[in-house]
Amino acid sequence: MENPPPPSTPLPLLLAPSPPTSPGLSERKIDVAKSERKDTPARALKAIALPNTPPSSPSQRGPGSSEEPESPSPLGVSSVAQLKIRLGLETETPQCGAMTRNERGCRNPRRATEKDELDQALTALLNLTQSSPELPQRLTKLASLVHCHMHDYSTALGRRVVSWSDLFPLGDLDAKISSAIKRIRDELPEASKTCIGISSKKKQCRLKLSGKTVQTMSHSIQEILKPQVFLRDEVLEIWIQNLREAAFCCYHKNQCLSKAAGWIRAIKAARSLLESSPPPPDTADATGKPTPDQLDTVSSTLRETAKHWKVTGYDTSPLRILSSESWNVKDWSSEKYQDRILVVLENLKGEERRGYVYVYEIKGNEGYVKVGYTEKKTAQERMNEWSETCNRQITGIYPRPVGLERGIHSPALIEILCHADLRTCRVRVDCEACLHPHSEWFQTSPQQAVDVVEKWSRWIDEIAGQPGWRDEMEAIVLESADMEHCLESLLQIKICDD
Ligand SMILES: [Zn+2]
Ligand SMILES: [Zn+2]
Ligand SMILES: [Zn+2]
Repeated sequence: MENPPPPSTPLPLLLAPSPPTSPGLSERKIDVAKSERKDTPARALKAIALPNTPPSSPSQRGPGSSEEPESPSPLGVSSVAQLKIRLGLETETPQCGAMTRNERGCRNPRRATEKDELDQALTALLNLTQSSPELPQRLTKLASLVHCHMHDYSTALGRRVVSWSDLFPLGDLDAKISSAIKRIRDELPEASKTCIGISSKKKQCRLKLSGKTVQTMSHSIQEILKPQVFLRDEVLEIWIQNLREAAFCCYHKNQCLSKAAGWIRAIKAARSLLESSPPPPDTADATGKPTPDQLDTVSSTLRETAKHWKVTGYDTSPLRILSSESWNVKDWSSEKYQDRILVVLENLKGEERRGYVYVYEIKGNEGYVKVGYTEKKTAQERMNEWSETCNRQITGIYPRPVGLERGIHSPALIEILCHADLRTCRVRVDCEACLHPHSEWFQTSPQQAVDVVEKWSRWIDEIAGQPGWRDEMEAIVLESADMEHCLESLLQIKICDD
């Protein structure tokens, strides 16, 4: 392996120093090998119809079928029960098991899933290998069935799928490709909301990256893991460049060249696993082997796509709504709102806080609003920050007009009261740019949200001048049987005229 180029080496040369003794797989080799790729076991596997796809193959067997697979499972298990043990799902009490920050499995109770549904998801996995194209999709389905309501967002599901995939056998023909992909994945960074550079104190830089940048990082990693990319130097080079330019903040850009050189070395080492094996599935169609001309076209198309790819404009895709039912019912019961109100009240004792409660919606998702608060910034500044981190085009709805607002008393309290008031339409949304869900969203009209915010803002204006209002409020919250009564009673706090 060659040494990493000095930091001054311009990127286009990063891949070039590869010595002729370890060339990337040439297009010609791919050409020859492709002709041997028909009717391989991996192909045959691909022909099995997915449970949710329209019939594309006569050999489909519904997941609910009682018929056992004829051949023993390559996982070395032949039953759902054994598979459960292998995947760590057979615990004394059914637990979520998602990777938590301290690397231990989450111990929250598993989502209430019908046993049949879980068994179907497991049965659908019995014959699969890491080479099976349907494996990720089916594992994602399984993860979404077992993860708790805190770990239902795509990053958490994706991590679980990766760790489960490793427990499956590599498969036949494409086994080496799978294992090369795995090795490359281990070497590449995970998409991150913060710069991956190392500070002078040898700690990871925590500087926040913009939502667009995070999306570029996620996308570049996905692309690099595709065999048609990592086997083609000229395409790989561009995606590595996209990745390294996204992954570092302006203070640590100087680390990106050596880091990228490390990724490339690792990718080349992984590719060396493939040297005597047939190439990956890519753009060849099943009817015949592609001509070198066609391969050139493929390469240049991939290269052009990589070069011109970037996150343009704001993300206007529909919000991915996460398990709103379990969120409302389990996590945000009346009791929880009451507890939160008490905590906020406790924090308010002492100094008087002022700030803003704001409401906004995002382009492409009318009918959903976010209700939040800020003390240190103006509503407009906070909304601009959200726009940047989530890469969404925000329309400020409240205060109106944004920018001319005056601060209100105890904004944190008004926020939680508004959330409680709107609790039945509360939703959690996944955010690709933040790699994490947001929970202050409501499926309601802007007008209703504004009415609620104005109602509680007027309320605080009236009562906050009175002595002992916090104690009175605390007593009401503690005494109320549920949130509905609690909010009603709060609105009736007597205003004494001096
Ligand atoms: Zn969990
Ligand atoms: Zn940094
Ligand atoms: Zn976000």
